[in-house]
Amino acid sequence: MPVALNIAIVGAGIGGLSAALALGVRGMSVTVFEGAEAPREAGAGISIPPNASMLLKRPGLRGALEKLTTRSSGLTLRTSQGECVARPNAPTVPSYQIHRVDLLEMLLGMVKAPVKFGHRCIAVDETQDGARMSFDNGAICDADVVIGADGIHSVIQRQIGLTTRPISEGIVAYRGLVHTEKLAWGAELHGLNMWMGLGRSLICFPVSQGRLINIVAFVPSMHDLEETWFAPGNVGTLAAEYEGWDAPVRDLIAALDHTFCWGIYDRPPLPYWSCGHVTLLGDAAHPMVPHFGQGAGQAIEDGFALAVLLEDARRDEIPARLKAYQDLRLTRTSRVQIASRLAGRFYRSAGGDPAEQAEQMRGWASAAEWIFPYDAEKAALALR
Ligand code: FAD
Repeated sequence: MPVALNIAIVGAGIGGLSAALALGVRGMSVTVFEGAEAPREAGAGISIPPNASMLLKRPGLRGALEKLTTRSSGLTLRTSQGECVARPNAPTVPSYQIHRVDLLEMLLGMVKAPVKFGHRCIAVDETQDGARMSFDNGAICDADVVIGADGIHSVIQRQIGLTTRPISEGIVAYRGLVHTEKLAWGAELHGLNMWMGLGRSLICFPVSQGRLINIVAFVPSMHDLEETWFAPGNVGTLAAEYEGWDAPVRDLIAALDHTFCWGIYDRPPLPYWSCGHVTLLGDAAHPMVPHFGQGAGQAIEDGFALAVLLEDARRDEIPARLKAYQDLRLTRTSRVQIASRLAGRFYRSAGGDPAEQAEQMRGWASAAEWIFPYDAEKAALALR
């Protein structure tokens, strides 16, 4: 006879909160523990791809998503001089572009579970029939299941015996937001717009119902930047990298007041994620380079798949259910990690060998065909 499971999520980022939402919808009792003292997000935009937006809409988020986000009108790929290379057909399920602060607030507003801020987890130990978490404020809590959604520097990952080494992609991303009204053509910008050149690429898209334009510019770097999203960058240095590019690219950079620098790192897929009553989710399990916009998308998929596989579980079934979740998700996220790396190479190869670029574009288009229409809940339901 299934009993109400007591589930703990460590980390109230996009992954942890999406999981809390999905588990709550399926009737499970959840508590979220967040290390920060209060909600904290970076000033940046993010794209919610179709494979994630289809899941978020199910628990009644459709209205909130439509209100807060900018529905994407698809992707346009251009050369560094602005000639259109491709405008792939938009997937049938829409993607959305949103300010990260709005997304976090929306999720916090929807989640019924208590979110305990100021609880930084420092250790997790298996108990006879669950796991015990210790926090830096002295609190100790027991749960039937502990989900480590604590991001790229995951403590929970280390607690289950894993160590990973980040590998630099040799590029850094400059990120920033521009007020749309600062650009004469800003209000006409729709969808995701990518300019591709040799060694560099720049993507921009409107967020906050078109009031802001989010920019991410990738440039080569010899320096290994700290793996953080909050290091300040220099707008002048960025402008020099894009000298001679299409006028809108130069306009966008000139309109930036400030920018953040983000070292782009990759990690090989982990050998396992689940150990006894503890598992991982999101960046704690599979950090990926951002070139398919799938970091948040895969974290959201994890939470919804895990909720399906934990629903109605008996206590003695938990380790097997967490193993099934790991096996299902590891296969897919490892493929997405590889596809994301290859997508970045494609975007930054324009102007090089045309035959090689055409081959890379075919690979990119076929990856888009299996990444975007995937239904993580359906895949998990097929295992029950
Ligand atoms: P995170 O969002 O990192 O959340 C982890 C949470 O856990 C945080 O709230 C943290 O405070 C908390 N935490 C950490 N340690 C502990 C602990 N010991 N105890 C308790 N709490 C803890 N991906 C893309 O694919 N494309 C993009 O364009 C893109 N842009 C991004 C821009 C920014 C500014 C940032 C921050 C990330 C971006 N990403 C992007 C990455 C993407 O957002 C993540 O892949 C995705 O959100 C998965 O998040 P997560 O919840 O697993 O981890």
